[in-house]
Amino acid sequence: MRASALVTGASRGIGQAIAAALAREGWPVCVNYLEHREAAEDLAASLRAEGRAALAIQADVADREAVEAMVRDASQALGPVELLVNNAGVSHQGLFQDVDDALWDRLLAVNLTGARNAAQAVLPHMLEEKRGCIVNISSIWGLRGASCEVAYACTKAALVGLTRSLALELAPSGIRVNCVAPGCIETDMVRALGPETRAMLVEETPLGRLGTPEDIAEAVAFLASERASFLTGQVLTADGGFVV
Ligand code: NAP
Repeated sequence: MRASALVTGASRGIGQAIAAALAREGWPVCVNYLEHREAAEDLAASLRAEGRAALAIQADVADREAVEAMVRDASQALGPVELLVNNAGVSHQGLFQDVDDALWDRLLAVNLTGARNAAQAVLPHMLEEKRGCIVNISSIWGLRGASCEVAYACTKAALVGLTRSLALELAPSGIRVNCVAPGCIETDMVRALGPETRAMLVEETPLGRLGTPEDIAEAVAFLASERASFLTGQVLTADGGFVV
């Protein structure tokens, strides 16, 4: 059985586009979701209708046991996971002083520990086979400061650190670890900021538009492909020139 790809948080937005792009590149794809079951099932069904292998599986990435069960089920149905895209993420806007324990812990648990949970669940197979690829979705806010998004920015900066250190540790085992840092992308996460902030973000983006989920999916598909076989520990910033 051939290997499969697992995309966390693939029911909507960037993850949905990544799962579709990888499926079209020939990867059997596990579409992970948390709450939007119908959207995830619809995506998997539409990919199957195109003749691709795809399966939607619910799991909270913050829950280690749930992630391990998802990896077991995905591997059994689609083939062992040899490509992991840690995309699931939550954001929060607000003053640092108002970030309470529950909010701080949840952002870390989903954005950072979630990536750790998924990586540790797929690594036994990758280490045994001495091949595999992990792509973490960070953010431009992990590369530069983000007023009123301190907790979110911390988790995204940590993903850059995770990428670099894990890349070094896993390189001798033939496993590549890279990161994509998206700029402002047209998804629910940015739409939630309101039309005025959205317009300001367009204004601040040198290429003069928000990115699309497909822009990020292209970057991930490249890093996951043989075309990037000599790239590891890298941060590919896909942001229309926002952070230059
Ligand atoms: P989005 O539209 O809000 O979608 C978030 C996705 O993550 C959904 O599929 C959601 O699943 C899933 N998710 C959330 N918590 C989860 C959990 N605990 N376990 C499993 N899945 C979970 O976000 P997006 O804009 O596509 O962002 C995707 C990633 O890109 C995030 O890591 C985000 O930080 C990063 N990013 C986004 C932007 C941007 O401008 N949009 C910029 C930089 C980086 P359900 O819908 O099923 O609940």
